Amino acid sequence: MEVSPVLRDAKLNDVTSVILPPATIGILGGGQLGRMMALAGRALGYRFMVLDPTPDCPTAHVADKQVVAAFSDIEAARRLAQMSDVVTYEFENVDAEVAQALETFSRVPQGSTLLATTQHRVREKTSLSDAGIPVTPFVPIFSFADFENAMTTLGSKIVVKTSRGGYDGKGQWMVHSPADLFKHRAEWEDIFAVNHAGGSSLAPLIAEQFIPFRGELSVVVARNAKGEVKAFPPAENQHVNHILHLSIVPARFPESLLHQAQVLAEQIAQAMEMVGLLAVEMFVTEDGQLFVNELAPRPHNSGHYTMDACVTSQFEQHIRAICNLPLGDVSLLTPVVMVNVLGQHLEEVLARMSTLPGHVKVHLYGKAEARGDRKMGHLNVLCDHVDEALNWIAKQGIWN
Ligand code: AMP
Repeated sequence: MEVSPVLRDAKLNDVTSVILPPATIGILGGGQLGRMMALAGRALGYRFMVLDPTPDCPTAHVADKQVVAAFSDIEAARRLAQMSDVVTYEFENVDAEVAQALETFSRVPQGSTLLATTQHRVREKTSLSDAGIPVTPFVPIFSFADFENAMTTLGSKIVVKTSRGGYDGKGQWMVHSPADLFKHRAEWEDIFAVNHAGGSSLAPLIAEQFIPFRGELSVVVARNAKGEVKAFPPAENQHVNHILHLSIVPARFPESLLHQAQVLAEQIAQAMEMVGLLAVEMFVTEDGQLFVNELAPRPHNSGHYTMDACVTSQFEQHIRAICNLPLGDVSLLTPVVMVNVLGQHLEEVLARMSTLPGHVKVHLYGKAEARGDRKMGHLNVLCDHVDEALNWIAKQGIWN
């Protein structure tokens, strides 16, 4: 079935016009974020196209059509764009050439500037710091010799990260002392060599000061092309093996700090003139300071709680922002704890599904294979106080 764009030609260059249903939204990436975007957008009456290399990917179940192709396939990206009135993405590692092809043939309200910024940790931290936003102290690393300067500036406890492409703790090394550096030298020398051969002028690694944080917060903020900005309530995040385990809302920090976190996220959204959603991950230091650690220009796992606990979900908000509709109300309706269901948890969750209480909202992503550590779904445990939800989760014995 061919779904023809209703607005594309007339409004391609008019970034402030509203994109009304039944316009077609193209999504680059067909994982769970695309799926939940499409589910929210369908309720508003939009139609969906998705590009993903895996046939029958999670988003394809709820889209009108899938283009089965690699993310680097420029011709396929062009086809997606030509069939869509507006294009968005569910991950940030979109090739610059693909982003350009999309922008030529469709409206891409999120643009490619923020993508380029968030694809590289040094560029991301530099632009935040230039905008006056407090970030984790860092030093760009071009060669092994740069670590000496890094340890002088940051102290000897540092976290080394690849500038590009790391996620869920991959491409990340904890370094406790100068001697520790040598353990990883061979691996890093390979990275320097590849970067050098590629002719990149950017640092392939970043060294960050190790922050002995009291907690981690994230704020999902939305902005539309009219410049309207709204930040969801901050989530308090707990990771296990570098993978998000729990998001607790309201976060258990003073009201003033949470307000400050929301203001910071809104400032970033305005400074970067972004359109769509931006997730801002922050550390709360022992003395109550906030440091921004990372940005993600898309819906975020730590914002899944909004699906059942806020007036508007992050996914509806994303659709509203890119279509230039007024942003939805971000008020929290109830305390909530979101717990991720990874491959190793799925069987137990399914075994209990017929007896789960009604305030436990189940979201499964329809992935065919439940591999270990793969995100298969999440539960939003609604409650009167987050302690009740945390106790309920602990009692299940699924996540121990
Ligand atoms: P990232 O990939 O930057 O989101 O880091 C993944 C996780 O590693 C964070 O959520 C923290 O728990 C931890 N981490 C990253 N950077 C630092 C740092 N500079 N200091 C302390 N912990 C960190």
